[in-house]
Amino acid sequence: MAPEVVIGVDVGGTTVAAGLVDPDGRVLEHHQVPTHARGPGTALETIGELLDRLGERARARGVTVTGVGLGVPGIIDAERGAVGVDIHYAPELARASLGAMLRERVGVPVFVDNDVNALALAEWTWGAGRGARSLVMLALGTGVGGGIIVDGRLHRGHAGFGGELGHVPIDFDGPPCVCGGRGCLKAYVSGTDIALRAGERLGRPVSAAEVFRLAAEGDAAADAIVEAACAALGAGLSIIVNGLNPERVLLAGSVAKSLRPLEARVRAALARYAFAEALRATHLEILALDKDATVRGGAALVHYETRRRKMTTS
Ligand SMILES: [Zn+2]
Repeated sequence: MAPEVVIGVDVGGTTVAAGLVDPDGRVLEHHQVPTHARGPGTALETIGELLDRLGERARARGVTVTGVGLGVPGIIDAERGAVGVDIHYAPELARASLGAMLRERVGVPVFVDNDVNALALAEWTWGAGRGARSLVMLALGTGVGGGIIVDGRLHRGHAGFGGELGHVPIDFDGPPCVCGGRGCLKAYVSGTDIALRAGERLGRPVSAAEVFRLAAEGDAAADAIVEAACAALGAGLSIIVNGLNPERVLLAGSVAKSLRPLEARVRAALARYAFAEALRATHLEILALDKDATVRGGAALVHYETRRRKMTTS
């Protein structure tokens, strides 16, 4: 029998990445293309073509694809594999029955979930979260998302909003947010918002990574933005520590990478807000994940859902 693999897909606002992933979480092949390579509103075709290409690669390698898992940056009905209306980075996928549509195309089970839920599953299955009974993944990138695993189960919430930790208000008079709320954590710690705020202060376009570099070089305006991000993150993390008391908290994403040298500042801010005893019991880790990590997310979703659905039907 041919060795079995699954296809993991990460749908981002700018790039769709997909890969063949073996049962040990190794990414055998990784392909990525711009989400809107064929123009605005074409994310679905991009995903479909990427799946076709990986199917061909699997055949060429003599491996069998047994399932496909997609991480999508929005609110997902994972039971039905359907995308909700809150998907700000690939809006054309709103209300799409993505699982059913793609299953038709690939002929194997297709599972869909929020991208950070999928990433949390990947780290729990193969990475920094291995063996944990409870963990929270907070991904700080273009946007800010969360994934919550409690007592060995992914907590999706009653209507799929579980883990939307980027949109907890940490400043009740803060700026309006894309989610309809105000003063959200995202407004202070997402790469997009850090770049935007710095651009206004410096009077020129600047990337989030550059803001961190300027701050490290002693630029006062950049450092003020970085300090605000650390303080906001401390407040946001305290909501996780006090509210969920997880065994592990993992930070991932491009902004988390920039925060690695500033871990002491993040911890100091967190200590200002969290229960000391709860914090002492929490293992906090800022991860520097490679580009395969999000692809492993989709793959971990396939394994998790296959197991879960077997358990609920037996
Ligand atoms: Zn928000």
